[in-house]
Amino acid sequence: MANRRNRRRSGNGIYILSLIVIAGVLVFAVSLIVRKQGESTLEVSAPPQTTEPVQSLIMQTQPTVQTEETQTTASIPVETVQSTQASETTQTQVSAGTAYGHIYLRVNHEKQLTPPEGFGADTTYRISDDNTAYVDENNMLIGLEKGECVLIAESGGKTAEIPVTVRELTVENGCTYVDGILVANKSYSLPREYDPGLLPVTKEAFEKLSADAAKEGLNIVIGSDYRTYDFQEECYISMVNGYSKEYADQYSARPGHSEHQTGYTIDCNSIDNSFADTPEGKWLKEHCWEYGFIIRYLEDKEDITGYAYESWHIRYVGVEHAKEIWEQGICLEEYLDIDSAYQE
Ligand SMILES: [Zn+2]
Repeated sequence: MANRRNRRRSGNGIYILSLIVIAGVLVFAVSLIVRKQGESTLEVSAPPQTTEPVQSLIMQTQPTVQTEETQTTASIPVETVQSTQASETTQTQVSAGTAYGHIYLRVNHEKQLTPPEGFGADTTYRISDDNTAYVDENNMLIGLEKGECVLIAESGGKTAEIPVTVRELTVENGCTYVDGILVANKSYSLPREYDPGLLPVTKEAFEKLSADAAKEGLNIVIGSDYRTYDFQEECYISMVNGYSKEYADQYSARPGHSEHQTGYTIDCNSIDNSFADTPEGKWLKEHCWEYGFIIRYLEDKEDITGYAYESWHIRYVGVEHAKEIWEQGICLEEYLDIDSAYQE
């Protein structure tokens, strides 16, 4: 019994010793792998989130990729940096230039460029894509074809990148569209036979808006929605007769020029500006874009829209457009680069 126990003990000893050796080898091997991985991580990847200028990151990671393209835009910080490809980095920067706003321009229209804030009179301009727009010798930006490009302004080592959208106006069956958005204002009218009623897309979006407002204890209802050409004609004529043509042109629309005929428009609640200061009016102003609506006639845009402020009048344009219009703080005329004035 004793011998067998001793043999078993010495057998255990060898067994434990060989385990220790194997463990030692394993630890060494693992440490080698970890070190190797650590080195390669340092070599190839930049930090995933950084606000450092692109130039310094490119220097760290890929000293050979100093193209002219990356040098000119290097002073602009970006939020995320792709580690290997200079072209991807440039694309990221393009969308970072929103601090200077956004230029909306129609084909064959032009805009006088003025230096961005903090830029000198010696500012020079160029366009990322010459097919979409160009800048002439008088710093006029001219729209060439529908699309997106970037205006690059440079002055004294500073660079600003300003997104430019070039839009196209089309007319179908007497209706005017700019990039697919139906337009009815003082410059553009709808034909008498355009008679869609309140469009389902408008109705559904409003029902969702109204239901969500109700969850917050607010009561937003339709005060008025669709109007036909003929009905608008009656409204306008009665206003001209009751007041004056000038009055009617400020507060109503001539037949064919009413946005209510588009099928995308709703007047909320009391249909007067006492609505603006109600909790409902304040909520609508802040949140209507989430449902694809804009407050169509803004307080500080009366010269551009051609209408007095109407806190109650909302227009459906879809969430994507509504969000951008809200964020930019502009009216539909500015967004589409159209005017709004009767021809006589
Ligand atoms: Zn209205």
